[in-house]
Amino acid sequence: MDSIAQNIQNIKAQIGENCTLVAVSKTYPPETIIQAYNAGQRVFGENWVQELIAKKDLLPNDIQWHLIGHLQSNKIKYIINFVSLIHSVDSEKLLQAIDKEAAKINRVVPCLLQMYIADEETKFGLDEQELYNILDNLSQYKHIQIAGLMGMATNTHNQEKIKSEFTFLKDLYNKVQAEYFPNDPDFKHLSMGMSSDYKLAVACGSNMIRIGSILFNSKAE
Ligand SMILES: *Cc1c(COP(=O)(O)O)cnc(C)c1O
Repeated sequence: MDSIAQNIQNIKAQIGENCTLVAVSKTYPPETIIQAYNAGQRVFGENWVQELIAKKDLLPNDIQWHLIGHLQSNKIKYIINFVSLIHSVDSEKLLQAIDKEAAKINRVVPCLLQMYIADEETKFGLDEQELYNILDNLSQYKHIQIAGLMGMATNTHNQEKIKSEFTFLKDLYNKVQAEYFPNDPDFKHLSMGMSSDYKLAVACGSNMIRIGSILFNSKAE
């Protein structure tokens, strides 16, 4: 078995059946991505629209592409007809713009609301007030389906800190589900955890992890 197939198998064994593995293929060429595809992986995540649309046409069309990086409103139109999940809705303005583009093609697009849970200026995301403002306005957005929440923990070795950020997001997810989506089976994804912190994320209740480097690059533990 090649090492990418082995890495996928190892990661899947760790996370169990109820957690979705998103293979983050940013910066990796189609020749590398196809190895993961041939090992059975179908869900891939990319950060940049330009790169995503360039690679997509070179790869099988049953891949489910997730957009996981910060999205600029003027790029939405390039992905709106095929993207299967947008993880990175980090402002109401962006949500409005996605809704508008989705309406043009009569599609309802699954989106996650990205929460700012880290202690780093460099990360994007909503605070709680912005989250609740969006949730209270949801009936305006007919072409958006809120499928859950996403977050990125601080890039630190401090496990207690990461754990408290993930726990905060899981609690918020439960609360939002109970208050806004009690009977909606489509609100179901809690996207948290990357190569360095996915085990902790899963232990804290994540059901969708976004993994790049340990899947494509090095050996998974
Ligand atoms: C790059 C990236 C990942 C994957 O990071 P790795 O450390 O390579 O696993 C996950 N989520 C987002 C938002 C990213 O930009």
